[in-house]
Amino acid sequence: MRNLQFSKPAAWMTPLLLMVSILCVAQAPLPEPVTDQETELGRAVYNELRDKGEIIESSPLYESLRPVTEAISRVAQSHYPHPFKFFLVHEPHPNAFATPGGNVYVVDSLLYFVKNTEQLAGTLCHEVSHTIHRDAVARMEQDHKIKRREIGAAILLGPTLAQAMAISMIGDLNSLAYSREVESSADVTGSDICAAAGYNPWGLVWLFQEFQNADSEQLPQLLSDHPANGSRIQTLEQHFRDNPSVFSKFNPDSKSATPFSVPKDASSVQFLRPRDR
Ligand SMILES: [Zn+2]
Repeated sequence: MRNLQFSKPAAWMTPLLLMVSILCVAQAPLPEPVTDQETELGRAVYNELRDKGEIIESSPLYESLRPVTEAISRVAQSHYPHPFKFFLVHEPHPNAFATPGGNVYVVDSLLYFVKNTEQLAGTLCHEVSHTIHRDAVARMEQDHKIKRREIGAAILLGPTLAQAMAISMIGDLNSLAYSREVESSADVTGSDICAAAGYNPWGLVWLFQEFQNADSEQLPQLLSDHPANGSRIQTLEQHFRDNPSVFSKFNPDSKSATPFSVPKDASSVQFLRPRDR
């Protein structure tokens, strides 16, 4: 008869189990299966980034990122039909960008760039809000002068066009030329998400304030293209004042921030291998 009780693992297994569990927590999520045109576009961008060797498959940095992304996802998920998934990528400038389908890409250096957890959470809440608002899809429709259903039809024609659109989208997302209104709207929704997730939504304001006097070469893409940061701060502050029941409990003073720490040795990074073509 089989013993159904769980027995303690043998001593020799302990380091093995520990290793397996560390590998599990430090790895990139699996992308969402393709179910509609948003996930299809998201998948095409994922494939392009993977083929460029940018997606980090495993890194201790995932452990620092995970608590923040889990808390944000718990709140944001009810506003979007596909699961949010956060991937670390390696690119020259600290940045974060969201694609249709729920994938959010976080450049590894952003985790070293932010001064506190609230700044990181604010950035990620902002990106998730672009997805909820379908800003990338709207932007693409505008850029390519084609309607949403035509994008869907175009993708059915074959992977080449979807791939071409993905490349174009990566270019768009990196240059981040959303209008000030679109950015402010993502800031506001992002602040609601951050507040509900328990992160002080002043984090994004602190990030803007810090950069107003900083060297523009050093700025993350998500902010450097927007000289109108002042008006984005004003819009956020107005939103906080208009909704005291949500926001008055948060301390506007950045001295109250929670330090964000990355693992001491985060150099053991593995990249996803490009697909076999
Ligand atoms: Zn944005």
